Amino acid sequence: MKSIQQCGCSRRAFLRGCVVGGLGLAAAGVSAAETRRPAAAPRKLAPVFHEAAFWEPVAGGRVRCLTCPNMCECGEGGITRCRTRVNRGGKLYTMTYSRPCVIYVDALEKNPLYHVAPGSNALATATAGCNLTCTYCQNWDIAQVGPDKTRNMDLSPDALVGKAAERGVKWLTFSYTEPVAYYEYALDAARIARQQGLKVAVVTAGYINPKPLEKLMEISDAFSVTLKGYSQEFYQNVCGGNLETVWQTLRTLAGSGKWLEVVTLIVPGMNDEEQGLRKLARMLAQLNRDIPMHYLRFSPAYKLKHLPQTPVKTLERASQLARQEGLRYVYLSNLPGHSGAHTVCPSCSRTLIERVGFKVLRNQVKNGCCPACRFAIPGINLG
Ligand code: SF4
Repeated sequence: MKSIQQCGCSRRAFLRGCVVGGLGLAAAGVSAAETRRPAAAPRKLAPVFHEAAFWEPVAGGRVRCLTCPNMCECGEGGITRCRTRVNRGGKLYTMTYSRPCVIYVDALEKNPLYHVAPGSNALATATAGCNLTCTYCQNWDIAQVGPDKTRNMDLSPDALVGKAAERGVKWLTFSYTEPVAYYEYALDAARIARQQGLKVAVVTAGYINPKPLEKLMEISDAFSVTLKGYSQEFYQNVCGGNLETVWQTLRTLAGSGKWLEVVTLIVPGMNDEEQGLRKLARMLAQLNRDIPMHYLRFSPAYKLKHLPQTPVKTLERASQLARQEGLRYVYLSNLPGHSGAHTVCPSCSRTLIERVGFKVLRNQVKNGCCPACRFAIPGINLG
């Protein structure tokens, strides 16, 4: 659950909690490839100024980034809203290329991606920056700052993919902050990863323009998209974004053949109205009833430390509404031990994949089907 938006934040909060709490690594018996803040890395590593992938010159030496709907425009030396791009001599450059601040071996379930190789691990990475500004971001210390404020590593796309191979993982994921903010690095690393037989997952808030999205889809296998809420007001006031853009991304992904899961972090009193949650679920079900929907529990963080955690009953009600609206696979995350983490056959109600936190305890899916009634369970390499 990533915003980057901060937020990914919501999702990020979720992710970060997992990393910091060690919820999956220890439980899954996995060794971390690197720590999130490598002690050996220098605090100040000069940026590699790599030309941005989508930009255009505007009058007077100014430049405009075309990667996301923010369409940042800046003059010489100006830094963009996501804090990762700069105008140097009338060209737009990214400052996060080859400068990840996170590298971690994580369960795919953490993203969350529950229908993608259950129980498998991925090398997850991120750089500083985000193109949204969610007030509840739980990764704000890396997502709401530029690369000059994080402790970075010197890791080219090639070297990053090499780390995945060293650790014996089959997936590379871009998460924690927002891949849109480090788009160029993610794109090149994904391309190399695919050439070397790895699969690629993108964890994003989906706040991206159509052309960059199209290019990203070409070299990715799965997407986990944070849909932050059901109202434009929430997107605008809490996240600094635009709801319709994210729905457009979801429509594009749902029609692309790429695997898609969606996640919403429910913040008490802000995006928890039944009518809105019902509408959100209905719209998603209209895209495809088989898209897994994850509801995440909010924990007080960043600028919303005064709010309580999401009540369990609110999450359970959201799940109930989503099923009533036709979604077949609805999950509750950030509630370790809750049965809402399990995958249940929509046809015969048999529990197929049992999870505790992000650890898969038992997977009974056989050849992509329920072993009891043969109902086909959608996903990638489910079992
Ligand atoms: S990706 Fe960053 S630099 Fe580009 S338009 Fe969006 S916020 Fe601005």
